[in-house]
Amino acid sequence: MTLIGAIRLMSGWHRLIKQVRSKLDESLPWGSGRRSLWTALIGLVLAVLVTLVWLAGRYEASQVQAELEHDTANAVSDLRGSLSRQVQALQALQSEPFAPAEWQPKILELLRDNRDWLRVEWRDTSWQLQAFADSPLRGPVFERMARSEVLNEANQACQRAKRLNGPAFSSTYFLPRSDGLGIEVMELCLPVTQTGELMAYMVVTYSLQELLTERLGPTFGRNNELSFVEPDGTRLAIAGTQRGEQRVFTSQQLVDLPGNTLLLRMDGRRGKPDLFPNVLTALVTGMSMALITVMVLLTKDARRRQKAESDLAEALAFRKAMEDSLVTGLRARDLQGCITYVNPAFCQMVGWEAEALIGKNAPMPYWPPEMVDEYQQRQAIRMAGNVPPREGFESVFMRQDGERFPVLIIEAPLISVQGEQTGWMGAVIDISEQRRIEELSRASQERLQATARLATVGEMASLLSHELNQPLAAIASYANGSLNLLQDPQAVPQTLDDVHMALRRIAEQAERAGRVINSVHDFVRRRDQSREPVQPQALLDAVAPLMNLQARKLQVRVHMRVAAGLPPVWCDRTMVEQVLLNLARNGMQAMDVPQCRDRVLVLQVQRAGPHAEDAGVEFTVTDLGEGIGPEVAAQLFNPFFTTKAEGMGLGLSLCRTVIEQHGGQLEFEAQTPKGTVFRFTLPVATA
Ligand code: ADP
Repeated sequence: MTLIGAIRLMSGWHRLIKQVRSKLDESLPWGSGRRSLWTALIGLVLAVLVTLVWLAGRYEASQVQAELEHDTANAVSDLRGSLSRQVQALQALQSEPFAPAEWQPKILELLRDNRDWLRVEWRDTSWQLQAFADSPLRGPVFERMARSEVLNEANQACQRAKRLNGPAFSSTYFLPRSDGLGIEVMELCLPVTQTGELMAYMVVTYSLQELLTERLGPTFGRNNELSFVEPDGTRLAIAGTQRGEQRVFTSQQLVDLPGNTLLLRMDGRRGKPDLFPNVLTALVTGMSMALITVMVLLTKDARRRQKAESDLAEALAFRKAMEDSLVTGLRARDLQGCITYVNPAFCQMVGWEAEALIGKNAPMPYWPPEMVDEYQQRQAIRMAGNVPPREGFESVFMRQDGERFPVLIIEAPLISVQGEQTGWMGAVIDISEQRRIEELSRASQERLQATARLATVGEMASLLSHELNQPLAAIASYANGSLNLLQDPQAVPQTLDDVHMALRRIAEQAERAGRVINSVHDFVRRRDQSREPVQPQALLDAVAPLMNLQARKLQVRVHMRVAAGLPPVWCDRTMVEQVLLNLARNGMQAMDVPQCRDRVLVLQVQRAGPHAEDAGVEFTVTDLGEGIGPEVAAQLFNPFFTTKAEGMGLGLSLCRTVIEQHGGQLEFEAQTPKGTVFRFTLPVATA
């Protein structure tokens, strides 16, 4: 992953972790109690739901019960209504004087209409039976048991009727029948009066069973079981449907009749086994189930969240460890330039706490005051949306104690999850240590070069002594000649001229010797490394005396070809002179073999490119030596690689370093038919 990628990743994390951290802080203290809270919640919700369903059931039951009570009350009033209508029908018969022949058909008609009547009797005031009629719809009632045996209830009813001067009912009694069964019956006694005088009684025997079936059956018997019951619960008569497997609701009401009171019981059978007896219960149950489903889903979700939280916490811990151990300083800025994040390494680097930096805008506390203007401009350029170079740029920051230190800053746009730029993320590397090492290596390089120069000089010492011999010998011979001339008193004017000439020669030779020594001195003297504009010709001139020394010894002809109108080059002249000297010396030594007859060394200087004005100046050193074999070529620039008995093997490696420091490259290639060309380029010194 690239550093910029890492920076983006870190910054994305940074925001996410902040949110998660605050969430976790809120939720973690509850962690232990969370389970019991959930259990309590689930328990409570379940209890509420069960209660709701139960209450809904209860409500429904009470509704049914109320409905039943209402039905029963209606049934009672219906019953009383029918009975009083029957009484009225009987009373209607009294308007005419009693004649059995006429009475009987009318009674039979009434018996046919009223199925609950078993028998109607006409009795006189002395309780003698004058006429009677049994219901044509069924057999005679008093068959198994004689009427005389069961007259007691009728008698009592008539006593009461006489007293009340109105219809009266007897209490009920059981009447066995010839089919082995029996029926529960009740007597109605209606006093027959004429002009206020009691004339007779009309006694109607009711079947309780038929009374229920006829009077209430069609209306209330479909959904209910109707019965007359004794106070102890004994059923006297039953009518209506009986559906099994249903919940029974019971309602009892008194049927208050003159002379007797019946207890009517209605057993309503409603759908008890139904899970959803009515819409309300169904609704509540449905909602409860939905609620439980939602709770189950919520619990699952909570569990997933919990897992995500713990995963995030783990990732957070890892991220934190990573963030703390990072040595690269990280700094995030928003689009306005305000610092939104710094990592511990950055704080350590600049010596400020994160709290003191976050939210700060330009000028930053770690900017050296003298650089504020420049940095502010740089920030403005950045905020305008200009992406800095990918490889980063160097800058200088200031620690809290005022110490300046160099840094390498790699900055990249901060892109949010939505793909929008939200700011800038920068990685800051303290490069002061790197700088110190570079400085050390530069110093040692310089020392090495000085040593190499001295070695070159040492090598040339013998050449020097030889070279100096010539002028010194010439000086000596001129001096001797002059002395001899001055000793001859004859030839004064001629002699003086000769002496003058000899002294001039002496001066010339002495100057020549001085120049030789100076050229060596100049070369050896260590000058500060400094770049300056230098004419290429001057570089060649500087090395020419030393080069010529060797050339003369090895019988090499040196040609220098400097193109006209070359611009000055920007270089450290001492260094470049040494490079030229090294290359020339190597070339001459390569030609120092017996088989090499044509010993010519060419130093050429020209424009590097024919068109480009600022392409630089190219220096080539060409020899006609034996050339460089592949195995030598492979190690040519390695320090201490040499093929010469007295060589040090440092020359070319130093040459290459120097040329590279000048932004160029030292190259070589074979020369046809033989020999080698070494080539390098120096930049043109601009105004
Ligand atoms: P040194 O001259 O002390 O040996 P250098 O680094 O200058 O060290 O050269 C290394 C080797 O490269 C030499 O020993 C020689 O074999 C080879 N070399 C350098 N220049 C030439 C050249 N012009 N022709 C052939 N061989 C060369």
